[in-house]
Amino acid sequence: MSISSPAAPLASAAPAVTGAPVPVTIARGDGIGPEIMDAVLRILDRAGARLAPEEISVGEKVYLAGRTSGIGEEAWESLRRTRVALKAPITTPTGSGYKSLNVTLRKTLGLYANVRPCASYAPFVPAAFTGLDVVIVRENEEDTYAGIEHRQTDEVYQCLKLITRPGCERICRYAFEYARRHGRRKVTCMVKDNIMKLTDGLFRKVFLETAAHYPEIQTEVMIIDIGTALLATEPLRFDVVVAPNLYGDIISDVAAQCAGSIGLAGSANIGEHCAMFEAVHGSAPDIAGRGIANPSGLLEAACLMLVHIGQADVANRIRNAWLRTLEDGFATADIFRDPARQTKVGTAQFADAVIARLGQEPRHLAKSAARAALPSAAPVAAPRPISPTPRTQPEKTLEGVDLFFHRNAEARNAARLATHVQTALPPALKLKMITNRGVMVWPEGRPETFCTDHWRCRIVPAEGHTMNPRLIAEALLACAAHPLDVVKTENLYRFNGQPGYSLGQGE
Ligand code: NAD
Repeated sequence: MSISSPAAPLASAAPAVTGAPVPVTIARGDGIGPEIMDAVLRILDRAGARLAPEEISVGEKVYLAGRTSGIGEEAWESLRRTRVALKAPITTPTGSGYKSLNVTLRKTLGLYANVRPCASYAPFVPAAFTGLDVVIVRENEEDTYAGIEHRQTDEVYQCLKLITRPGCERICRYAFEYARRHGRRKVTCMVKDNIMKLTDGLFRKVFLETAAHYPEIQTEVMIIDIGTALLATEPLRFDVVVAPNLYGDIISDVAAQCAGSIGLAGSANIGEHCAMFEAVHGSAPDIAGRGIANPSGLLEAACLMLVHIGQADVANRIRNAWLRTLEDGFATADIFRDPARQTKVGTAQFADAVIARLGQEPRHLAKSAARAALPSAAPVAAPRPISPTPRTQPEKTLEGVDLFFHRNAEARNAARLATHVQTALPPALKLKMITNRGVMVWPEGRPETFCTDHWRCRIVPAEGHTMNPRLIAEALLACAAHPLDVVKTENLYRFNGQPGYSLGQGE
């Protein structure tokens, strides 16, 4: 039986390796956070971790005290000072007005790579699969997590999905560097570019461009739906998986659960200047305060942090004791399945069992053998240009504009809207097509198509005219005078002759 050694992240700006205690920001979090953090800090202390902890208060208490971000200025100062944090999970209050602190921390600190190693410890932790050992590298700052959402009409709400070339380059480069550094053989990219041809299409394109620089590593691209299904049913075929933010979030829970429990997985959020380590799971309010939570996810995160700050020796000591604890059958409720082999314990007793085994090694599972993150890792983790030849600025030409209209129920008729828009438009512009939820409804359409109150009208120059920004302003003024309710505009550009927008049906 074997598992791989803990997959430590690539360090970014790791503090110098010295014997002196390393300042580390500690956030105890909400729900089960304080219980599991107590357990983990006790283990770190007894294992000889050389840390100078600085505690900050973030999360529910701060939200309820009126800070909608969930974090105060002193906490930011500590994070800026230490550049390394160990954070327990936080509860985001439901209801509008509260921003997710996790998303704020990742984006504000530029923690662009979320590394989530998932390994199974069967038979000591019952799991659907033996030998599962996969690392999810999730893009951490972009995608629908930009938090740009709008209600546009009575019926329609939208969330902006932002994918950038530098964002794709950084995360794909990180995934391949990670694979190379950790002797991993394959990197799989998961996207949905059969539908989102521009955004996810860019992610795939950059992934393949990056792959060309790592000929020794196998690569594959999968559509996220079949990728997730295979991860859940044949996880052993995967090694490192890189994905945009939302898919990465989902598949890392799938992988963690396949490995036995979400309570086992730790994660590293890595940026150029800072790093933050946390469990994959949330604050588990359903079991908070009962002393039964599994501290292993946060302990794994703490071990990733120790490797990052150059204390791999301590990380290995802790992980070996932890593996031995699992082998000896100690199990918190979430991983307790087999009364014949396991002893059910609470959070504190589990920590006591790990402490009692410090200095011991597993007898069956593979020993932990993490190496200290090399100080030279910093430039490796930093984004570097993919191509040695600098890209030239593309030629950008304005071709038209999509105007989105709010039309209420009585006027839900594409032909009538077309007549109104054509009447309103200045002579230099013409209506090319109308879609509703992306389906063409004019000039061609089918009576079966269900229409909401949100209509997209594609406007292009009339024969003999060329598009310019002034014409868009004129169109908007004309619609306002008519009146037609424009709720959004999207300019249509070509970049070096290639359309920078999705083509409507029938084009
Ligand atoms: P959750 O991960 O907190 O809980 C899901 C299930 O797993 C629950 O049944 C819970 O009891 C169990 N579980 C989770 N961690 C466990 C552990 N260590 N030991 C034993 N069982 C464990 O997910 P949720 O219920 O969807 O979210 C609860 C709160 O956590 C929400 O407010 C959410 O926003 C927040 N959250 C925070 C983070 C973070 O801080 N990084 C991540 C995810 C969710």
